[in-house]
Amino acid sequence: MQLRVFNTLTRKKEEFVPIKPNFVGMYTCGPTVYKPATIGNLRAYVFMDELRRVLEYDGMKVKSVMNITDVGHLVSDGDEGEDKMQKSAKETGKTPLEIAAAITAQFMQDIDALNIKRPTVCPKATDNIPEMIEIVKALLDKGYAYETEDGIYFSVEKFPSYGKLSGVNLEEQRHGARVEVNSFKRHPIDFALWKKAAPNHIQQWDSPWGRSFPGWHIECTAMGVKYLGERFDIHTGGVDHIPIHHENEIAQGESWLGHQIVNYWLHNEFLLVDGGKMSKSLGNNYLLSDLQDRGFAPLVFRYFCLNVQYRQKINFTWDALAAAKTAYEKLCSQLVAHKNSPVKTDAAILDEYKAKFEEAINDDLNIPLAMGVLWTMLKLPKSKDVYNLALKFDKVFALDFDKVKEEPKAAVEIPNDIRALAETRLAARKAKNWAESDRLREEIANRGYVIKDTADGYEITLK
Ligand code: AMP
Ligand code: ZN
Repeated sequence: MQLRVFNTLTRKKEEFVPIKPNFVGMYTCGPTVYKPATIGNLRAYVFMDELRRVLEYDGMKVKSVMNITDVGHLVSDGDEGEDKMQKSAKETGKTPLEIAAAITAQFMQDIDALNIKRPTVCPKATDNIPEMIEIVKALLDKGYAYETEDGIYFSVEKFPSYGKLSGVNLEEQRHGARVEVNSFKRHPIDFALWKKAAPNHIQQWDSPWGRSFPGWHIECTAMGVKYLGERFDIHTGGVDHIPIHHENEIAQGESWLGHQIVNYWLHNEFLLVDGGKMSKSLGNNYLLSDLQDRGFAPLVFRYFCLNVQYRQKINFTWDALAAAKTAYEKLCSQLVAHKNSPVKTDAAILDEYKAKFEEAINDDLNIPLAMGVLWTMLKLPKSKDVYNLALKFDKVFALDFDKVKEEPKAAVEIPNDIRALAETRLAARKAKNWAESDRLREEIANRGYVIKDTADGYEITLK
């Protein structure tokens, strides 16, 4: 089955043809590790993972590179404001290195919990400073960049196709009110390749331009080319990166090497909360741990993400997440019923479902449609053959279908306070305090859980 993907660069769904047969080089803009990843950020990485899994399902070997941005990402995506790492260091009293290490570790835990395959390489920006300096030097030598009092800037007017990814128009931008004017720049959307550091700037390196630090955009060009070569297949990121970050990556990278580097640009739409942007002030910058604290297992969030195609916005509400949890549990219990049935299913019927599934995933990753195929297939008479085919589908879904048991435990994360009540009740039972044990059973029931006594303790399920 031929995979087709929507290429932001051409604004069309195109057949995906890798540069080398059966091998895909894929770069993803990684997290800026100054604060924990939100569930919005995590949607971007669920998408990265789905893409990789579909490519692998199709028999390709994928080299996936995801950088860790631990310097250079300023508070605005343009060149204004403080470095996010520096700001966080000031606020917490920790060093950027300490912050980056802790946040990266947390991020890796989150992606593991979401069954997101770890990328083949996760290079840190701070480990690739010399590579970035070489590119900036080359851009200066070729006349694409110029030095100012506060840094080295890329001159967008030297790159005639600037704007080809997002459709921005240089002239409109020149007069546009949205671009903040930095008096050092020749054109308002020229962007910083390199920034000269003030003496109190924490992260700074020696460079031909004195003590300084990299611009955010140059990081991805340097690490993409270093690990994937001068031409590679796919670059992914969220839609917010199209107009500035990725446009700039294209301009500086293609000017440096003199040719196109990336063939397919794929972007995921945003996750919204209650129909709007997530924001600190609204207190809805949710993390995966916030979901877990409310009793939602990470894979429920993955299931939630898979039910919306990556180019559509997804609206997060607690009700919608609860509905995803119910559906996921139902899916798991149906899988169990198939797993335990010795009945055979006609191979031709299974082939039909497999073909429909493959058609859906290869149509620009229509995972919701593929999930629909699974749901319909589960309505077939119960059969282990159906379960086995679902396991094959799960190479793409990654929802732990191989772990389903009588109780879909993967889906039911028991909150800590309910566990505490259950432990207190167990102690009461051991002390033969039946009245207290009954009272606790009722309290647990009132909170939506059922506790059953077993030979070695108890079992908790959802009501
Ligand atoms: P950052 O750590 O800010 O560089 O973002 C990491 C990734 O998350 C980038 O690919 C962003 O485009 C993406 N992203 C940020 N916010 C959201 C959101 N609300 N929904 C989906 N993706 C997002
Ligand atoms: Zn990037």
